[in-house]
Amino acid sequence: MEDVDVVVIGAGVVGIAVARALALAGREVIVLDAAEAIGTETSSRNSEVIHAGIYYPRGSLMARFCVQGRRMLYRFCDERGVPYRNCGKLIVATSAAEAGSLAGIKARAEANGVEGMRMLSAAEAVAMEPNLACTAALFSPTTGVVDSHAYMLALQGEAEHAGAVFVFHAPVEGGRVVDGGVELAVGGAEATRLRARLVVNSAGLHACALARGIAGMPRQLIPREYYAKGNYFTLLGKSPFSRLIYPVPVPGGLGVHITIDLGGQARFGPDVEWIERIDYSVDPRRADGFYDAVRRYWPALRDGQIQPGYAGIRPKIVAKGAPAQDFVVQGEAVHGVPGLVNLFGIESPGLTAAIALAGHVAELAR
Ligand SMILES: Cc1cc2nc3c(=O)[nH]c(=O)nc-3n(C[C@H](O)[C@H](O)[C@H](O)COP(=O)(O)OP(=O)(O)OC[C@H]3O[C@@H](n4cnc5c(N)ncnc54)[C@H](O)[C@@H]3O)c2cc1C
Repeated sequence: MEDVDVVVIGAGVVGIAVARALALAGREVIVLDAAEAIGTETSSRNSEVIHAGIYYPRGSLMARFCVQGRRMLYRFCDERGVPYRNCGKLIVATSAAEAGSLAGIKARAEANGVEGMRMLSAAEAVAMEPNLACTAALFSPTTGVVDSHAYMLALQGEAEHAGAVFVFHAPVEGGRVVDGGVELAVGGAEATRLRARLVVNSAGLHACALARGIAGMPRQLIPREYYAKGNYFTLLGKSPFSRLIYPVPVPGGLGVHITIDLGGQARFGPDVEWIERIDYSVDPRRADGFYDAVRRYWPALRDGQIQPGYAGIRPKIVAKGAPAQDFVVQGEAVHGVPGLVNLFGIESPGLTAAIALAGHVAELAR
């Protein structure tokens, strides 16, 4: 049995950012990940969008950490040379009913502190993006895209520089609450037991199962996990747009949007497919739904122009049809277990929010 100060479980963007924040605060940090490298799950299966903070209910953790995290992320990228592009985004209405909902989206964004939101007529939107078809639009100038892997590597580098140690092929298989912390069973080729003063459960899609495996963590406070897959299709050929184009949001996700990666490749998605088990395959038959959704705002999309890309899975903690759930950050004040912080339901905008969310976890740990 080895005694350690802090164990962060999960080396996705959130776990890495938490490790960095705690290491910079002077804690001795070990990051354990079951996989062979950083960011092999949701953190590398997303849209890489730096979200402005538009849609989330005022005062929610998502709203707070997205707006703060976005500002911190742009600064972080500038200072560390992480590639990004502050390209802006248009939320486009394609009917009178949708146009009517743009004002509500703008008001919510402004209540969250999002800067520079601007309503556009159809003509103004088309002047910005000539290939677009819409009846009105809302422009978000602070939205952008980031190289998510370069971002994670930069966070990891700073965490390591501050003394954090990353261990891969180290699945945490269970644990129990003990005096002075949490004892963890770590599997893999070099199975071991660790006793940590602080454990941060940042295991993404597996965070609920992991919490259930920690004896002494009150079961009734652990949400049930649900999986909502988001499939992407990629565009063959040049992107018709220079900004990100989003429809008005749909239940469970932001609607099939167009994002452009830093290499200039346009991708469509993610859609929303509720699934029972983790499965990243993309069913080519879902293309039909993409053609229908995208042609509403880009009628020139031709048959055969898109192909299956990749998929990510949203770590939901509410079932299909239930109202959206905020990020859940559980420390001792919530569950009564000293030395344990659980992060549940860290779906979008987790990539954008990671640095701010990590600061909050470091505060809780003080
Ligand atoms: C389709 C989709 C699109 C998205 N688009 C955006 C976007 O454009 N912008 C944005 O801001 N956010 C976006 N998000 C959200 C964002 O990707 C996530 O919030 C973020 O990546 C979550 O990071 P994480 O570190 O919590 O989880 P993960 O990246 O899933 O990391 C969890 C880690 O824990 C490890 N692990 C799990 N169980 C164990 C165990 N028992 N022992 C050891 N290790 C374990 C895993 O190997 C993994 O590395 C999107 C999400 C999805 C699904």
